[in-house]
Amino acid sequence: LEKGQKYSRRPRDKLLGGLLTEEFDEESCLSRYHSSFYRKPSPHKPSQYLLSKLRSYEMLHKRCGPGTKAYKEATKILGHHDSMSRSVGECKYIVWLAVYGLGNRILTLSSLFLYALLTGRIILLDQRTDINSLFCEPFPGTSWLLPLDFPLTDQLDSFNKNGSHCYGTMLKNHTIKWTTRDNNIPSYLCLYLIHDYEDHDKMFFCERDQNLIRQVPWLVFNANLYFIPSLWLIPSYQTELNKLFPQRDTVFHHLGRYLFHPTNKVWGMITRSYNTYLSRADETLGIQVRVLTKPAGYFQHVMNQILACTKGEKLLPEVAATESKVTNTSTRPKLISVLVTSLYPEYSENLRTMYWEGPSSTGDMVQVYQPSQEMYQQTDKRLHDQKALAEIYLLSLTDKLVTSNSSTFGYVSQGLGGLRPWILYKPKNQKNPCVKAISMEPCFLRAPIYGCQAKTVKITRFVRPCEDRLTGLKLR
Ligand code: GDP
Repeated sequence: LEKGQKYSRRPRDKLLGGLLTEEFDEESCLSRYHSSFYRKPSPHKPSQYLLSKLRSYEMLHKRCGPGTKAYKEATKILGHHDSMSRSVGECKYIVWLAVYGLGNRILTLSSLFLYALLTGRIILLDQRTDINSLFCEPFPGTSWLLPLDFPLTDQLDSFNKNGSHCYGTMLKNHTIKWTTRDNNIPSYLCLYLIHDYEDHDKMFFCERDQNLIRQVPWLVFNANLYFIPSLWLIPSYQTELNKLFPQRDTVFHHLGRYLFHPTNKVWGMITRSYNTYLSRADETLGIQVRVLTKPAGYFQHVMNQILACTKGEKLLPEVAATESKVTNTSTRPKLISVLVTSLYPEYSENLRTMYWEGPSSTGDMVQVYQPSQEMYQQTDKRLHDQKALAEIYLLSLTDKLVTSNSSTFGYVSQGLGGLRPWILYKPKNQKNPCVKAISMEPCFLRAPIYGCQAKTVKITRFVRPCEDRLTGLKLR
């Protein structure tokens, strides 16, 4: 069977409940309309309001995007140093910079896209890295790539923690105030939302600062966080967010499936793996092993934790001591395919060896597959990133998922797949090896919990602490 044996016989929902438009040519990006051959239909339907908002966003992007007169006008005001904003009509922009690993990038992009929806902006991507070889264009008849001759291109790399155009730094240096008005609104502003950001940078999440930021034509984000939970704590966005996402724990699930369509090259890697190793299985289990300690690599205690979790939660059968201990009652043993992703080969090798050396106690057959062993992170090497994306996507196609704590790589898979994973705790932190996540939403790992949002965090019905990070916030 060519196309995902499991789901090909069902009626297909190729537009994912209306998230996608039919405007695209199918061949140029096969993953866009073929994902429903491989993925279980999602039980979560996007709201009509979200769908209409996406369609009007697409039109706005066409009017304001690269190559339009509006874009040209808007970039003109950036030409000279410290130029202040003039009216730019209806077009305002968000520029996304590619920083940190792929999981970080995907989550940041989704956060910025939602922020763009909320504030009537369009989003453009710094394309100096390999983003274009990973994802297809999500918006029809236009491009989400920032043209290479964008006037600020040479400055983009200076938009870091102490960058003089970054909002936090400007607040600290008193070169901007939240009360700044009209003639003093800058034409662009950098927002630094990286995990080591400080109190001044976090003012981005305050209502009164949003009133100023909203007026700036160009916002450049140097960010690596999934900050959507904290947008819910900004009062002026709450009503709109509730309308867009009546079911709060589906935000990334919908936005992710709307935005991220692997290119044909990556899609080939995904479908070849899927058809060879996953499509015939009765059950599939994904295990994402991310080792965040230094040094990283293979550790017996992590292996033990994985085994304790899959055994304790009955995700995999145990290995019987002898053939006579096999207690299979069913006539047809199941084939269970385990997809392991890790930078290191040993975790899957040990698992595979275990089920070869001894029989599974249920008589079921366990097959273990790991697509790549890259050994170390090589972000911005094209093929490495393509493999990472293929693996994130493959994990999202499994029936059940085990992920590693605090890993955005895992968050993206669970969100795309609509899966509540079992999260492996930080080793030695807990009595239990893993915990089943309350929801499929990613965690905002460094949420502001003091300052202007402190009061709201305590009383809100919108967010809760993350399972894997008590100081992190996730939508509930
Ligand atoms: P996080 O650091 O776990 O939050 O995830 P990121 O995706 O942001 O960064 C980790 C990067 O390391 C990935 O993007 C990959 O480049 C690489 N990496 C980590 N784990 C894996 C894996 O299991 N498979 C592959 N192919 N790459 C991985």
